[in-house]
Amino acid sequence: MNNSIEMPQLPEMLELWQQTLNWQPSSKELSQFQLLYELICQGNRQLNLTRITEPTEFWEKHLWDSLRGISRFLGKTELPDFKVIDIGTGAGFPGVPIAITQPNWQVTLLDSTRKKLTFLDSLISELELKNATTLTGRAEELSKQFQYREVYDLALIRAVGSPVVCAAYALPFLKVGGLAILYRGNWTEEEAVDLRSTLNSLGGAIELIDPFTTPISNSIRHCLHLRKLAVDKPGKKVKLKSK
Ligand code: SAM
Repeated sequence: MNNSIEMPQLPEMLELWQQTLNWQPSSKELSQFQLLYELICQGNRQLNLTRITEPTEFWEKHLWDSLRGISRFLGKTELPDFKVIDIGTGAGFPGVPIAITQPNWQVTLLDSTRKKLTFLDSLISELELKNATTLTGRAEELSKQFQYREVYDLALIRAVGSPVVCAAYALPFLKVGGLAILYRGNWTEEEAVDLRSTLNSLGGAIELIDPFTTPISNSIRHCLHLRKLAVDKPGKKVKLKSK
């Protein structure tokens, strides 16, 4: 683990942002990314937040990857003021970089581990993010409560479970018409078959499977965009397989 506070050379990555996402962070966003990196490295001294602390890897696997998932919205000026939930946010990914670049979105960072969220509360305050809040609990329990059920426009979920598990966690939080983005590595036809049958009972459908490779290590990724088309059928149990 890298315990030193080395800033990633973020300005040097401007060209790469432009080439890959047709977007560049503002100088304010760059400063916030740098502070985010520093705070995560500091937090890692007390908590096991992330193994990814080498500067270039942090840029690629945390900053770039988080924003690649919402590339269809990046830099768009006339976006609706989305209510967003990042389920199983851990050290704040993908939710924190997204809260930085989308100040009009209200981002809820949900995790079952209170101590990670205590860290994120202080990170939110240091980054002066007025549009981010934390929520402690298990996704499958909170999504049954009326104040969280079917109230979000966008649900994000990275590295929490299989596609079926992620869909079953995310869809109940969404309004009808809302979008879930599942951040995946590899993607197989077998997973697609399982997911389609689960989505049937959750009132959702696969809108887009977005394959890409990361710009530095050329790792394979897929973002699955799931649209909620109807209220899910309560009482119908979704079988959750582990990862
Ligand atoms: N999304 C982050 C990322 O990609 O860096 C963190 C991924 S980490 C592997 C998985 C996180 O999901 C952990 O912080 C864990 O506490 C949280 N988690 C797992 N199951 C959960 C559940 N049912 N409800 C809420 N959080 C959950």
